[in-house]
Amino acid sequence: MFIVFEGIDGSGKTTQSKLLAEKIKAFWTYEPSNSDVGKFIREILSGNIKVDDKTLALLFAADRVEHTKLIKEKLKEKDVVCDRYLYSSIAYQSVAGVDEDFINSINKYALKPDIVFLLIVDIEVALKRVKTKDIFEKKDFLMKVQDKYLELAEKYNFIVIDTTNKSIKDVHKEILEQYNKVYKQ
Ligand code: C5P
Ligand code: MG
Repeated sequence: MFIVFEGIDGSGKTTQSKLLAEKIKAFWTYEPSNSDVGKFIREILSGNIKVDDKTLALLFAADRVEHTKLIKEKLKEKDVVCDRYLYSSIAYQSVAGVDEDFINSINKYALKPDIVFLLIVDIEVALKRVKTKDIFEKKDFLMKVQDKYLELAEKYNFIVIDTTNKSIKDVHKEILEQYNKVYKQ
């Protein structure tokens, strides 16, 4: 199974995706990935290099092409849990002003996940949780991104989990229950 975690920064994606991967013995991975394109993207996100938002959307799609090869390879042996995938692109880049049809078209070769967990969180809590801030980690922007994620959740049937007032352990338990439900189907 290909399992994706989505949500704004500070929603708990990295912590929870790692915990699930460990529990179900899956391969854990993330985007922007460890590819050369992924590393270049992180430079842009830190604000050191400036590019047009459309260029950034293309770079994310390019990174995903590289990353998807690795994911497919791993899926032959085991489950894969991924911290961010296609829907991060749709949410962040569309809120940044890039046309959604364009984002979808350049991501034509992305895989369709079996499960998408959308972790949502109160924005103030999210901002407190993130230590280093990148170019997108601003209150108004993240509020819009979270709204966009919720719109996508309806369209693509994500499993939505609010992490605001819950412990890491309780959220993990909830995720595991949901995973087991889908797994047994
Ligand atoms: O999840 P992580 O914080 O490592 O992601 C890095 C940043 O990349 C996010 O904070 C988000 O601002 C941005 N991002 C993006 N579009 C994507 C994936 C991530 O703008 N497709
Ligand atoms: Mg972040």
